[in-house]
Amino acid sequence: MKLTDLVRPNILTLKPYSSARDEFHGEASVFLDANENPLNNPYNRYPDPLQRALKQRVAAIKGVSADQLFFGNGSDEPIDLVFRIFCNPGVDNVVAIDPTYGMYKVCADINDVTYKTVHLNPDFSLDASRLLAATDEQTKVIFLCSPNNPTGNDLDTQAVKQVLDTFGGITVIDEAYVDFADRPSYLKVLDQYPNLIVLQTFSKAWGMASVRLGMAFANPAIIRFFNTVKYPYNINLLTQRFVSEALEQANQTRQWVAMLVAERAVIAKELARLPLIKQIYPSDANFVLVKVDDPNAVYAYLVDKGIVVRNRHTVTLCQGCLRITVGTPEENKQLLDALAAYA
Ligand SMILES: *Cc1c(COP(=O)(O)O)cnc(C)c1O
Repeated sequence: MKLTDLVRPNILTLKPYSSARDEFHGEASVFLDANENPLNNPYNRYPDPLQRALKQRVAAIKGVSADQLFFGNGSDEPIDLVFRIFCNPGVDNVVAIDPTYGMYKVCADINDVTYKTVHLNPDFSLDASRLLAATDEQTKVIFLCSPNNPTGNDLDTQAVKQVLDTFGGITVIDEAYVDFADRPSYLKVLDQYPNLIVLQTFSKAWGMASVRLGMAFANPAIIRFFNTVKYPYNINLLTQRFVSEALEQANQTRQWVAMLVAERAVIAKELARLPLIKQIYPSDANFVLVKVDDPNAVYAYLVDKGIVVRNRHTVTLCQGCLRITVGTPEENKQLLDALAAYA
C-alpha cells in the first residue's frame, strides 16, 4: 500500500507547529527570536528540534542516512507516534504477536485502536501465515519484537521476511535487544521495504536507560511524518550532548555486550543444574526466561534475599515463568547461590 493510503487523513494535511528554531537556522550572533533568557548559557537556549548533529553521527554508526532516522524520548515515543500517524481511532486496528512488549497494547488502548494478537507457537517461534491471516482491510500496522521480550528469542528471519514481503501496511520491528543477538539488524533491508520501521534504543546495550533516547529508522517519507507529529523539542540538550560524547565509547559498549552474552551462557548453564528450574528458554537478549513450579513463591523468596526478578507468570504462554536480567558476574553469582539454596 502507498504511504498516502496508510497515513491518517488529518495527519496527511497537518500543518506542523513551526518553532523559532525551525524558522531560522544559519549564522547569527544575537538571538531575540524565541523569548529565551539571554543568560545562563547554554541551558537558556531551546535545543535543535531535529537533533541534526547527533543524527549525523548516529546515522554514520548505523550505516543509514540521517533522513532515515528519528529520535524519540525512549522507544516509547515512536511506538505512540505510529498509532497517532497511521491509525484512525475507533476504526483501524493493529496486529501484534503475543506475548510481547506491553507498550504496544497500552499505546493502542490510549489511542482507541483495536489491538489484535496472534499467539506465538509454544516454543515462542512465529507462525507468519497465522499472523498474516489475522490482518484485514483495517489493519494498518503489524508489531514484531525480535529478539522478543519477555521470551528472549529472536524470531526466525524467514518468517519475518514472509511478513515483510506479504503485508501491505506498516511493519514495526522492535530491535531493542538486537545487540545481544548474532544476526545483523533489519536496518540492512531498510532500503528494500518502504513500509518498514525498525526501532532501536540506547537503553540496553549502550547502558543509557536514564537518558531516554530511542531510535526509529524508516524511509525518509515516514520519518517526515514522525517529525511533523512529535513535540517540537522532544529531545533535550543534555541528552543530545551526553549521547554525542558517549558515542566515543562504542568499544566499551561492544565489551559490555560480549561480557553480558558470556554471562548469559554461564547463567543458563548453572540454572540448568538446579532441580528448581523446570525449563530455560534459549535467549538472544540480555535476559533469560525460566520456568519453575511455583513462580510466586520463588519470586517472593528472591525478594527476601534482596534480589528482584520479573514475574511473568500471568503472561500468555509464560505460565510459571520468571524473567531474569543478566547482571554483573557478582550479581549473577548472588542470584545463582540464592536459587541453589531454595528449599
Ligand atoms: C526495553 C525495551 C525497549 C526500550 O524502551 P525505551 O523507551 O527506549 O527505554 C523497547 N522495546 C522493548 C521490547 C524493550 O524491552
